[in-house]
Amino acid sequence: MPNSIKSVTNPKEFFLSKNSYPSKSLGQNFIKDLRVIDRIVELADLSSEDEVLEIGPGLGALTSALADNAKRVVAIEKDKKLVEHLRESFRDYPRVEFVHQDALKADFSSFYSGKKLKAISNLPYSVSSPILFKLLEARQYFSSLVLMLQLEVGERITAGPGGKTYGSISVLLQTFMDITSGFRVHPASFWPKPKVDSIVLKLEPLEFPRVDVSDEKLYEKVVRAAFSSRRKMIGNSLQSILSRDSARASLELAGIDKTRRAETLTIEEFGVLVDKVSIIEKQSIS
Ligand code: SAM
Repeated sequence: MPNSIKSVTNPKEFFLSKNSYPSKSLGQNFIKDLRVIDRIVELADLSSEDEVLEIGPGLGALTSALADNAKRVVAIEKDKKLVEHLRESFRDYPRVEFVHQDALKADFSSFYSGKKLKAISNLPYSVSSPILFKLLEARQYFSSLVLMLQLEVGERITAGPGGKTYGSISVLLQTFMDITSGFRVHPASFWPKPKVDSIVLKLEPLEFPRVDVSDEKLYEKVVRAAFSSRRKMIGNSLQSILSRDSARASLELAGIDKTRRAETLTIEEFGVLVDKVSIIEKQSIS
């Protein structure tokens, strides 16, 4: 459905009228190509029963399309002057609620009314990774996340083992979510133009993780430690969180050669490794 709320402000005119400029530190690059907005809405597969959480509504270009297609939209924006403007522009749209807050400090569960939310956002690139991990932690409240990210971050998220882009973010997100690439977006689709291309991804939380994860905190700790020094062999990088003996014993039990590098391990191997670390650690405590 095309964008129908007429009150959506042209970002360039808005900032000119305020004699100011979009904030780089807040990652303010506004979508000006309405086809991009239509494609995001299409990928999110919205219905009139859906409840949406938008992070960083900016001047409301995407929010407006979400309001047209969903039952309820909660949008969290950190920039106070934008929130004031949004509340005024959308005053006739009771389905849309603007929350003036830093999304990094927000409690996403407080927006959950009993029906799983769809998170939809053109993420502020400066904080896209921490927001992704916050969404990952709160995934029980979401049925899907449709997110626009810097292309390079999108490539790291979707990477498989063996390459330079495969890292802790790939393993941690792919363990708990199904991830599909939507489409690429050229810098000319935004004002002001970002320096790099963007990509829209769809992430769908899995009912059960791809591998057995009994202790999520430990899983995250081991995966992050494994990738903490990419050039190091896994037997050495694990020593940032385990004793040398525990690291070696866990790898041996998992059947993983200690001279391998983290980027060669599959998600299944990380699953086995963390299970063995947990056994070895319990033994060393008792
Ligand atoms: N949704 C708008 C669009 O697509 O045109 C704007 C997207 S712009 C890339 C990111 C938006 O996130 C900006 O409006 C910015 O002020 C807001 N933002 C930045 N950091 C934020 C944070 N920590 N919490 C909430 N909003 C944030």
